[in-house]
Amino acid sequence: MNVIDLRSDTVTQPTPAMRDAMLRAPVGDDVYGEDPTVNALQQRLADELGFEAGLFVPSGTQSNLLALISHCARGDEYLVGMDAHAYKYEGGGAAVLGSIQPQPIMHAADGTLPLDDIERAIKPVDAHFARSRLLCLENTWHGRPLPLEYFAQARALCDRRGLSLHLDGARVYNAAVACGVPVREIAQHFDSVSVCLSKGLGAPVGSVLLGTQALIETAARWRKVCGGGMRQAGILAAGALHALDHHVARLADDHARAARLANGLRDAGITVTAQHTNMVFIDVPVERLPALKQQMDAAGIRLSIGYTPLVRLVTHLDVDDEGVERTVTAFQQFSSRAA
Ligand SMILES: *Cc1c(COP(=O)(O)O)cnc(C)c1O
Repeated sequence: MNVIDLRSDTVTQPTPAMRDAMLRAPVGDDVYGEDPTVNALQQRLADELGFEAGLFVPSGTQSNLLALISHCARGDEYLVGMDAHAYKYEGGGAAVLGSIQPQPIMHAADGTLPLDDIERAIKPVDAHFARSRLLCLENTWHGRPLPLEYFAQARALCDRRGLSLHLDGARVYNAAVACGVPVREIAQHFDSVSVCLSKGLGAPVGSVLLGTQALIETAARWRKVCGGGMRQAGILAAGALHALDHHVARLADDHARAARLANGLRDAGITVTAQHTNMVFIDVPVERLPALKQQMDAAGIRLSIGYTPLVRLVTHLDVDDEGVERTVTAFQQFSSRAA
């Protein structure tokens, strides 16, 4: 029985065509800036998102970290969502390695950070306070694309208050596909954007940070300091370029399957708390979680239980229609056993 892994969209296997592209990639030493495939990837994303330059890095965590420590200096602070990845799930890296203080803001239900709350959290210029320097947003947030009109409002606030604006766009392509806009329409409001190639896009490794030439030069220095300078990384960049050519439009398939999965789970009597793009969140009573895990293990289905809020199911490149059906069937059995 093949396993259906719905824990995350990070679990995808490179397709045979992607492996072939990786095998054939021309490479060089990227620490010298001489890997043609890495350079092509950085240029491709910079052009597509409307930035001067890009930097290929090993992970989204490092990409966000480099953005934060390039925008902010020691004693500065960044404003960020209380549940944002760049605050909560990255080991406190900006504080640990950058001496930067986070100022968490509670998310509204739609994933935005209320502008009034941001405004109130910005510190006066006074020796008592850290210097508020940067606002960091996340899109998609728990799979949810933030409303497009919010970005212009956040940009205007940042311009008025002298903040830079960073987007953790780990899944910004999911957002663009779901909103039916070119990714540039989202990216245009930001001073820097981090894009993950290893999530729904299905590349094995890597993220790209985008920004001005000056910001990217600073980030490249910090990348080396963090041990993220890779050598013939074009092998990895080739997988990412292949993903950008072949795996963007198909994100709509993942979104449609997540919607079908959510409907199937509702019909099976499961409480679906949210479904956006490729993510489904369900609420299962805590005392039933061990039974859920046991049932899903037996059915060859893996879920993310009790780590992210509630239970999360994520569709991706390696989940097909049959995988959705098998999951719904397993949940029907889970529900009927409780009845
Ligand atoms: C996965 C993720 C990251 C970090 O990416 P890694 O490559 O896992 O380090 C950052 N932000 C968001 C929103 C993510 O989902």
